[in-house]
Amino acid sequence: MAESAAGPVDLVILGGGSGGYAAALRAAELGLSVVLVEKDKLGGTCLHRGCIPTKALLHSAEIVDNIHESETFGVLSTFNGVDMAKVNAYKESVVGGLFKGLTGLIKARGIEVVTGEGRLVSPTAVAVDGRVIEGRHVILATGSYSRSLPGLEIDHEKVITSEDALGLDRVPGSVVVLGGGVIGCEFASVWRSYGADVTIVEALPHLVPLEDESSSKLLERGFRRRGIKFKLKTRFSGVKTTDHGVTVSLEDGSTLDAELLLVAVGRGPVSAGLGYEEVGVAMERGFVLVDRDLRTNIPTISAIGDLRPGLQLAHVGFAEGILVAEQLAGLNPVPVDYDNVPRVTYSSPEVASVGVTLAVAKERFGADAVTSVTYNLAGNGKSQILKTSGAVTVIAVKDGPVVGVHMVGDRVGELIAEAQLITNWEAYPSDVAQLIHPHPTMSEALGEAHLALAGKPLHLHD
Ligand SMILES: Cc1cc2nc3c(=O)[nH]c(=O)nc-3n(C[C@H](O)[C@H](O)[C@H](O)COP(=O)(O)OP(=O)(O)OC[C@H]3O[C@@H](n4cnc5c(N)ncnc54)[C@H](O)[C@@H]3O)c2cc1C
Repeated sequence: MAESAAGPVDLVILGGGSGGYAAALRAAELGLSVVLVEKDKLGGTCLHRGCIPTKALLHSAEIVDNIHESETFGVLSTFNGVDMAKVNAYKESVVGGLFKGLTGLIKARGIEVVTGEGRLVSPTAVAVDGRVIEGRHVILATGSYSRSLPGLEIDHEKVITSEDALGLDRVPGSVVVLGGGVIGCEFASVWRSYGADVTIVEALPHLVPLEDESSSKLLERGFRRRGIKFKLKTRFSGVKTTDHGVTVSLEDGSTLDAELLLVAVGRGPVSAGLGYEEVGVAMERGFVLVDRDLRTNIPTISAIGDLRPGLQLAHVGFAEGILVAEQLAGLNPVPVDYDNVPRVTYSSPEVASVGVTLAVAKERFGADAVTSVTYNLAGNGKSQILKTSGAVTVIAVKDGPVVGVHMVGDRVGELIAEAQLITNWEAYPSDVAQLIHPHPTMSEALGEAHLALAGKPLHLHD
């Protein structure tokens, strides 16, 4: 057990979210003494306000959809409504169980947790409530917060963030979702399933704009079918709260009335007022700058997770935390390959991807050097059984490895794990083509796309 009063510990971590706690667990496992400073609850955004509670809502929403669609499958059922108190109790029970497990794990590894708001006071120390904790190394892992737009004030009642949305005690009648990224699309999906009238406003040309354009278009088709409205290439210009909700004005001159406005325009770094600037940590727009080993410009300080520029995903935070811990313990870990991090939007339909988009592949390898196959889920038995539609697109370098996999359809999030092995191990289509996928599963679509890329398509229509 680290005794900070007795001298410097090996590692002080500021922030106990996905990145911070993963670093703590791995460092302790490797025999380092660790102090973890957390002002709120261990587990951070992901466990309490992000991944886990949103996916619980999405699961409950899926059950609503199943009930509505049950007759298609020969099952007669009656939908009697959504009881948000019970939905929230279920969601909280999942979060609570995982929180208990995490707290136990941290304790079992002998990590000292200091509860309180920490502040960086030197290249090797963090102060919490008057106590200065010295470490040979410091990891900054203070995460991110829901951003807004200039002049757009969040009142947490009618103009809300994702945190507020997770705490709603009712199903709203109508919502405008500002931002068609992952978080906006997931909430749009949940609320539509629950029966709300939903309109997404996105400034860029497509929903989930970081995804391959083909995936965005399939998601848009899926949302359109479900009655989720969206306005693309449309910028927000203002919002007024009314007795009934909000009136949202858009730069195209139109207005939208709704009960709620969810602001889902991205997440900014939690770095202001925490001593980073005073200690001399290099930052840009509040994000802490790091090299590929996650070191800041100060050799004794690393930064991980949502706080540094780049992908904001829990599993990236885990990987970065583990990486820094292993470096500090004298191991020689491989840096994170950010292109090959799997990404999932858990809406209905789901969007999952790993590797580069077709546009990036063409830019990187040359348009003539890239080949791709799209396998429509219409040809996949299990997808037909589930009545889901979508596609699997696999991109490869000609006579070379697979460099991108992009999928849309229900449950494709579960398929991305195989896809990330393929891209990370730089498998060739022919390597994957000879591997047998179980029938009937959705994974066969991935196998079929590789068979086609390897020149031996099976169930693929031209
Ligand atoms: C609605 C939503 C849904 C999401 N869904 C997914 C998903 O499905 N999959 C996925 O991979 N990612 C998802 N994410 C992203 C994921 O939650 C984040 O990428 C991840 O939590 C980042 O981890 P982190 O450790 O960098 O920061 P955080 O998890 O934000 O943790 C930072 C911690 O630092 C603490 N802290 C901050 N300042 C101080 C201080 N001064 N002193 C002490 N403690 C401090 C905070 O209390 C917090 O606990 C979602 C995010 C949101 C908002």
